[in-house]
Formats: sequence, C-alpha cells, structure tokens
Amino acid sequence: MQFQAEREAIIESCLQMCADNLTLGTSGNISIRVGDLVAISPSGVPYPDLTPEMIPIVDLHGNLVEGVCKPSSETPLHTLIYRETDAQAIVHTHPVYGVVLGSLRTETPLIHYMVAPMGGAVRVAPYAQFGTQELADNVLKAADGRSGVLMENHGAITWGKDLATAYSKAKYLEWCCEVWCKAAMIGDPHLLTADQVQDVINELANYSPNLADYPTAKEA
Ligand code: 13P
Ligand code: ZN
Repeated sequence: MQFQAEREAIIESCLQMCADNLTLGTSGNISIRVGDLVAISPSGVPYPDLTPEMIPIVDLHGNLVEGVCKPSSETPLHTLIYRETDAQAIVHTHPVYGVVLGSLRTETPLIHYMVAPMGGAVRVAPYAQFGTQELADNVLKAADGRSGVLMENHGAITWGKDLATAYSKAKYLEWCCEVWCKAAMIGDPHLLTADQVQDVINELANYSPNLADYPTAKEA
C-alpha cells in the first residue's frame, strides 16, 4: 500500500482532533500532500473506524487515484489550497469558539500574539454550503497572506509545511478564539496592534521554526 505513514498520521490526527475538542462526530477532515497526490480522510466515516486502506488518494484536482472510500466532501477545498499555496498538510475542524467568531463574522481580534503562526488576524470566509467550489473559493480569498481561515457558520481550517504544523495551528487558532470570547464576555479586552503582532511574526522563525511558515498564500 502506498503512503502508509501518511495514511496512519491522518487517522491519528483525526482521533486527536476529537480528543482535543476541535471537532465532533465525523465533522472535519485532514489531508497530507505527497508530491502531486493527496491523502485525505474519507467522507462521513467515524474516525475510530478508520484503517489506513480507507484513506483515499486523490490527485490535485480531486480525482480518485486509489482507495475504496469516497474522499472527503471538502476535497475541492483541500486541493485548491494545495494548488494555490505551498501547504503540505491541511486540518479542517468544527471548533466551538472558532465557529462563534465565524458566526459573528469577526476576524480573530489580536488578543494574543499567538495569532502569529497563522500570519496575523485570521479572517472569516463568507458562508457557502460545505463541499462546494464556492466555499473553497471563499476560503482561498480570505486566506491572502494567512495560513488559516474561519468559515462563517461552519468551522476553521489551517495549513502548514507538515501535519504537525497544520495541527498545532488549529489548536492555537481555537485557543485565541476562546481567550477572546471569554474576555469579551466579562469586559472590553485590550488588543495588540498589528505592528506588535508583526514583530512576533518576524521573531517566530528564531523562536520556533516549526510555526514560522505562515506566508503560504501565493502572490495573486
Ligand atoms: P466529510 O466527512 O465529507 O469530510 O465532511 C465533514 C465536514 O466537515 C464538511 O465540511
Ligand atoms: Zn466542515
């Protein structure tokens, strides 16, 4: 079987995103790019039931190359991001606080400098039905210079140079959303300036090269 390690890593992270409360049920999806192919979680399969053979392999336009299961309904979204950025792995979640901000159409306020791994304030892509090309286009447009997007009334998506990086961004993004929601419930939180966040972005490469791969959106 091709891509055994990638397929196993996808299953492990699918289970982890449920354990970490980043999603629930069969919601969300994860993929890894390998050259011109993509291993992606299958559509609608409970994560505890997954085995490596069940992870489909598609090309960069979503055509099935290998596998018995239907690829994730968000394959058009994943493949568009792979075609248009230097992402090597993508994590899509349905996290509570990210969905709260997305439904408020509020880009992540600069409440903490750990928005830096995503390249700064994470924008909200306008709503379109899950699995549609329209949703994929909206997400890519909202990404511009970021490696993460909130999806209005839906969820969050992050990407990076490998699965560990994309996954840790999913956690940092949700954590920033949660901190802001809780602070905003009890007061009017002080926010950082864009310059202060930019200083951290500049520093991140020295501090944690694993998180410093934010400028993934290609030049328009
Ligand atoms: P899939 O099970 O088809 O990946 O869909 C889950 C999801 O989150 C759609 O946005
Ligand atoms: Zn979703």
